[in-house]
Amino acid sequence: MYKAILHDHLDGGLRPSTALELAKEINYTPLLKTDDISSFFDRTDSSSLDDYLEAFTHTIALMQTEPNLERIAYEAAEDMHNNGITMYESRYAPFYSVNATLSPTKVIDSINSGFKKAQNDFGIKSGLILCGMRHDFDNVGQVAELAIETKDKIIGFDIAGPEFNYMPSLFEKSFRKIKEAGINLTIHAGEGDGVHSIKDALSNGAQRIGHGVRIIEDINLETKELGDTSKELIDNQIPLEVCISSNIHTNMYKSVGDHPIKELIEFGFNISLNTDNRLMSNTSVNKEIQIAESLGIVNAEQLLINSTSYSFLN
Ligand SMILES: [Zn+2]
Repeated sequence: MYKAILHDHLDGGLRPSTALELAKEINYTPLLKTDDISSFFDRTDSSSLDDYLEAFTHTIALMQTEPNLERIAYEAAEDMHNNGITMYESRYAPFYSVNATLSPTKVIDSINSGFKKAQNDFGIKSGLILCGMRHDFDNVGQVAELAIETKDKIIGFDIAGPEFNYMPSLFEKSFRKIKEAGINLTIHAGEGDGVHSIKDALSNGAQRIGHGVRIIEDINLETKELGDTSKELIDNQIPLEVCISSNIHTNMYKSVGDHPIKELIEFGFNISLNTDNRLMSNTSVNKEIQIAESLGIVNAEQLLINSTSYSFLN
């Protein structure tokens, strides 16, 4: 049975034990001071997005060498395999790992080398989506150029980071080049901002939407009437990369019970189920399946099976 994960950040998925081991190797004190590494990274009770995002500075600090990147990529794919996943799309902002001895291409090669080893050992097929960080205008342009240069080594392009005030159209030139180069495009939208951001992502050629759950605000839940952007998503069968736990932990919804995934499925959207940041959200594929089923979705594994047809690995 083929099952895919489409939305999982490489720097959000380190094993706690690996983080501790790598921190010891470079004497990285912020992690060595804590008695419990798992709870240090666990931001499930974070009061603000800043607190949630702060955890990433510590994983990125450990992702500065070729062997570390290779190991982290290998272990991410292995963990996915252990949860029954056969196709794993990982994403990362490559310039976070660029330093005096590590070029952008080496960053990509190291990650791919980890994925290849995991494929040899477990059969899981993995691929990398490059993320531009939208609060850094130049970074998005640089990552887009890198994606075009390395297009045979990657499976897609995305923009991540704060969505509010950073509409996709700010980067329309980069998106146009990405599309012209024939690179797959997904855009984080409809998470930190609303329907207009999703609409803007679509007009820039997004083939999938990262999160996208705020499309529910485009639907009159009483009359069941769909707005134009909802219709566009459904008519063009644009998949939404839904990540339930992450949406709770970044305070989009107060509790799992408020999450609209079930309604979105009922309205006919193409829904994929994803993990986003397994370390900070203390989650896994299997946990997200359980959460989805607790919301009344009868066979949540089917969402992972459906995701294989939305995958950029095809
Ligand atoms: Zn994400």
